[in-house]
Amino acid sequence: MTNSMSWVSIPDNSDFSIHNLPFGIFSDSNPIKRAGIAIGDQIIDLSKVAELGVFTGLNFDTDVFTNEVLNPFIDLGKDTTNAVRRLLQKELINDSSVLKEQQSVLVHQKDAEMHLPVFIRDYTDFYSSIEHATNVGTMFRDPENALMPNWKHLPVGYHGRASSITVSGHDVHRPMGQTMPPNAEKPVYGPSKRVDFELEMGFIIGKNTALGTTVTTNDAEDYIFGKVLLNDWSARDVQKWEYVPLGPFLAKSFASHISPWIVTMEALEPFRVPGPKQDPEVLPYLKYNGDKNYDIHLEVAIQPEGANETVVCTSNFKYMYWNMTQQLAHHTMNGCNINVGDMMASGTISGKSEDAYGSMLELAWAGSKPVALNDGSERKFIHDNDTVIMRGYSENGDVRVGFGEVRAKILPAKQ
Ligand code: CA
Repeated sequence: MTNSMSWVSIPDNSDFSIHNLPFGIFSDSNPIKRAGIAIGDQIIDLSKVAELGVFTGLNFDTDVFTNEVLNPFIDLGKDTTNAVRRLLQKELINDSSVLKEQQSVLVHQKDAEMHLPVFIRDYTDFYSSIEHATNVGTMFRDPENALMPNWKHLPVGYHGRASSITVSGHDVHRPMGQTMPPNAEKPVYGPSKRVDFELEMGFIIGKNTALGTTVTTNDAEDYIFGKVLLNDWSARDVQKWEYVPLGPFLAKSFASHISPWIVTMEALEPFRVPGPKQDPEVLPYLKYNGDKNYDIHLEVAIQPEGANETVVCTSNFKYMYWNMTQQLAHHTMNGCNINVGDMMASGTISGKSEDAYGSMLELAWAGSKPVALNDGSERKFIHDNDTVIMRGYSENGDVRVGFGEVRAKILPAKQ
């Protein structure tokens, strides 16, 4: 199967190839939020496809496509959601498809507004990149003991704030916060001076569990619907003062942005790779079989107002030390239940080389090594009116499956 087999014209190198077909929620001149699938530069309006009777054989209530979030669709289960994706793939390469005759099923992405694709009731953020955890531990504690004693024994995480997760394109004001400036005797209140991005990926839960039940690493993939890019904004000066002893709070809760299209795990199947060797050996409940990491190229660019962007980081999701099945097994080990639409995030995804660090904290090494931008300016952290753009894609020969982008501008603080 190739892009050229489709009756939709799909640009070369499109993230949204015939192999991808990610799900999202959009509106256009018709303000009703509804479900769509991205293909090339366009969106297939699933509610319109349903009206043509294309899904009749699959036996589900197609009202799920006019819901303002994908939760009811995802809740139908993978048998149905995968069947919808496969059926559309077939229709898109079928020259006599009923969809081809009905151009109203297609909406140009440039004419559409994207919305948060799921209602996220709970958001958990892990800390699963060994390079990131080592860099942070080296800067703030002791290079000899950069990792805390628990780090290689369990996927460390914390419960994040779900209400402030928003979708790409919604700008955010620099947060106000309480900080303790260096050498000061009293804390101050004011705009954060150290706003940072964190390059992360989130996975969306596709199946509920009951309170008191657990998910094993073997079963975990049944519970993962798909993945998005995530910019987990962080105010480093606020974080430094507030985080002891209970961890991140207001430094992280002012905003987190995700990419609008959820790429299914089935679309990512060709990009499985082995993860790093885990030493010491993990406890039995964290052991897993098979390849559980994914080769997903990631990059971060900074675009100052009125200037061209500069790519400041190139990383890869395959570097993760703890994989998603281990994160889910650990999360549910105590009987904690999960719900369709919950998001679990990787933590900052850093690689070994200095240009693969997934935050300004690491790239500029706590402000000691400013990062040069194409316009001649330098950054230690993010300035007002800077736009941060994250992109991600997997590629294997002619098969490309991408995430598009997540972008947001930091506006001046509201004082
Ligand atoms: Ca984070």
